[in-house]
Amino acid sequence: MIYFENVSKIYPDGTIALEGATLSIKQGEFVSIVGHSGAGKTTLVKLLLGEDQPTGGSVSFDSVDIQNVRAKDMPDLRRRIGVIFQDFRLLPNKTAYENVAFAMEVAGKSDEEIASDVPHVLELVDLSKKMWNFPRQLSGGELQRVAIARAIVNHPDLIIADEPTGNLDPVNTYEIVQILKKVNDMGTTVILTTHNRGVVEALGKRVITMDHGKITRDDMMGKYAL
Ligand code: ADP
Repeated sequence: MIYFENVSKIYPDGTIALEGATLSIKQGEFVSIVGHSGAGKTTLVKLLLGEDQPTGGSVSFDSVDIQNVRAKDMPDLRRRIGVIFQDFRLLPNKTAYENVAFAMEVAGKSDEEIASDVPHVLELVDLSKKMWNFPRQLSGGELQRVAIARAIVNHPDLIIADEPTGNLDPVNTYEIVQILKKVNDMGTTVILTTHNRGVVEALGKRVITMDHGKITRDDMMGKYAL
């Protein structure tokens, strides 16, 4: 489903963020990408989302070379990928319900679909009781659960969670990872980036380790090792 072939990324200031990165991810996998801050995890995600171009090599998604996707076709590709960030990125003036509904509106879904799917997906992340709360009335863990609901509501093929537990305590971290696992069990491919050793060890899924822009390990039932 995803293929990085000998990918390098050198930023204009000369920073080498990725060097000779080759990896493939199959549909339905749950893959954690771990490494210290600055290892290149976010750069990898940006290249996959087409937000930046590799300096060398190629990045493909379902056999489509992302660098060759025309600007007008990019939104179609992006709709197939749900993204979750460390800082949640919810709209502050919309309730949990409205944040999720908005993602469906933007994707052109009907009012009927929105009215039936939003409560369902908020129930999946155990937020039914708080769906009328605004972001300022929610805890960090709850905010991230809204963000997950928003990311999955349009049934993407892939969820990318870029350091989703970076702002959370251990209990909330555990809950978020369990929800991502549930999403994966339902068939969605998940890529999780983290520097949190505990998160990855508890999962027992594939772990790709990065260090200074290089993939240094790829363990199927991995342990985090730097
Ligand atoms: P991680 O997500 O693992 O913390 P990043 O991909 O954000 O790592 O960064 C990898 C390296 O690239 C770091 O040395 C970082 O400082 C550098 N970097 C990231 N973005 C830019 C940029 N826009 N310009 C220059 N250097 C950058």
